[in-house]
Amino acid sequence: AKKEKPGSFRWYESGMESELVQRRELESDLRQALLRNEFALHYQPVVDTTSNRLTGYEALLRWNHPTRGSVSPADFIPFAEQHGLMIEIGDWVLRTACEEASRWADELTVSVNLSPTQFCWPNLVPRITGLLESSGLPANRLELEITETAMMNDVANAKSVLEDLRALGILVAMDDFGTGYSSLSFLRTLPFTRIKIDRSFVQDLGRTKESLAIVRAVTGLCSSLGVATTAEGVETEEQRRILKREGCQQLQGYLLGRPALLPPAKDAARVMPME
Ligand code: C2E
Ligand code: CA
Ligand code: CA
Ligand code: CA
Repeated sequence: AKKEKPGSFRWYESGMESELVQRRELESDLRQALLRNEFALHYQPVVDTTSNRLTGYEALLRWNHPTRGSVSPADFIPFAEQHGLMIEIGDWVLRTACEEASRWADELTVSVNLSPTQFCWPNLVPRITGLLESSGLPANRLELEITETAMMNDVANAKSVLEDLRALGILVAMDDFGTGYSSLSFLRTLPFTRIKIDRSFVQDLGRTKESLAIVRAVTGLCSSLGVATTAEGVETEEQRRILKREGCQQLQGYLLGRPALLPPAKDAARVMPME
């Protein structure tokens, strides 16, 4: 496995094998990955800004490839989407996250990312209903994170799916808020309980006045709409201080804790990232 630095893994290597051969190999490896138990969920803490208390974790998928080592989801998820493998992989993520979270302390939520095809899958709502039932996880402890891309093609359908999820008591978050073209109109028409302010805005806080203006506008707007906010990618004390001052309710990022495997069962509640 060739690994440069985390996050910069490149699947395709130049050399003897053609890209086509490597794509085929990736596809068959991905098909095997579930059977061979090569996936794992890492969990990143989400923390309440004012109390500094842990409110839950975001589940982030990891693939431990037998020879290539840890492959980033940013590399294999788009590929899995293209090859029709994402429903099955996403189903494993949902099932595993619900089962694991059902053993955590009562107040903790688990946030699960849904890919565009998963979100458009007609069986999504019944499947999640079944998974909540079999895992025993209460609906209000599951939050689904959905990007704009997943909702763009059919806003009417997106609205009806989100309403169904809300009716079950499931929380729904708009992921990577501000990076798409329709963030504001989606915020108006779709019943989100939370938005996640994209890391690109958080990153520049304290450095550019534009990022502050945007974060301030977003938190203000969300607070008047009654939508909660989480800031992603918080890395510095200064960013934390500004986000707290601007009324952002939850923080997530390396400052609070990196994604990691959790110890089993109730111990999860004791992995506290805070001072
Ligand atoms: P995302 O949903 O925006 O997840 C946040 C990403 O930012 C994660 O990368 C996380 O490790 C990283 N991150 C968190 N805090 C910081 C920070 O302070 N600084 C920096 N530089 N990065 C931070 P990761 O785990 O590599 O995941 C990348 C993307 O892959 C995710 O972006 C999400 O879109 C997708 N993904 C991950 N797991 C799943 C999954 O189970 N299903 C689906 N459909 N997508 C997933
Ligand atoms: Ca996410
Ligand atoms: Ca995100
Ligand atoms: Ca992001």
